[in-house]
Amino acid sequence: MSDAPTTAAPLTDFSRLCVHTITTKPWTIEKAAQHFAQAGVKGITVWRDTLAGKNIRQTGQMLLDEGLSIVSLCRGGFFPHLKETGRQAAIDDNRRAIDEAAELGAPHVVLVCGAAVGQPLAESRKQIRDGIAALLPQAEAAGVKLAIEPLHPMYADNRSAVNTLGQANDMAEELNSPFVGVAVDVYHLWWDPTLEQEIYRCGKNGHLLAFHICDWRTPTVDLLNDRGLMGEGCIDLRQIRGWVEATGFSGFNEVEIFSNRLWAGDQHEFLENIKKAYLEHS
Ligand code: ZN
Repeated sequence: MSDAPTTAAPLTDFSRLCVHTITTKPWTIEKAAQHFAQAGVKGITVWRDTLAGKNIRQTGQMLLDEGLSIVSLCRGGFFPHLKETGRQAAIDDNRRAIDEAAELGAPHVVLVCGAAVGQPLAESRKQIRDGIAALLPQAEAAGVKLAIEPLHPMYADNRSAVNTLGQANDMAEELNSPFVGVAVDVYHLWWDPTLEQEIYRCGKNGHLLAFHICDWRTPTVDLLNDRGLMGEGCIDLRQIRGWVEATGFSGFNEVEIFSNRLWAGDQHEFLENIKKAYLEHS
């Protein structure tokens, strides 16, 4: 770990640039695909809301026809519930997500694991682990991996009881399946003093499935929808990407930005700014 370069070299092209459909939320998936491809973006991560009412196989083919790599499907998860009926409904929804990923041609589903107000976080984590375990036979049969994405602790009340990469790594190792790994999102993890060692840990054992980038603004005015464009905040992106790449990770750098401010503007201009920020700050 100490021998690895600590800071990544600047990116010089868009060969590993992926954009999440939610980043340009005002666009339909067709528009996003067309405009991403025209802009030279190479990968797309698809959010499930964009697939509502569509033929998913045909949509996957449309993305490939545009020359895009299908990087991930977002998102499954939300396993913990106080009642068994809620937990079962969550597992059923995750089964649909796995089917959708297989139809779309996405290699993995990103899991926002969930948390239930009214029960201890440890109990929620147990329900998350049991939920993922219940899905594994189907994930294996479909050839779709499940990526546990730890969320910033400000979301520990109701969005995720998995709040550090260490916890996600523990869970992935305990589940011990080639179909379970983790997703590293700088927005959620940049503050963690153990981040370098935990990235090394998941990278070296083959669990590092996805790398999400954006920035943390000061002040952050909305807990969910005020993410920054790379370079607008305090995250040392090149440092973290350096740790990720030192493990041998060669997947996409996925731009995932939820921002009321940026969604309100011209999305073509925003996409050009993403490309600029990708080269200058990522
Ligand atoms: Zn993410």
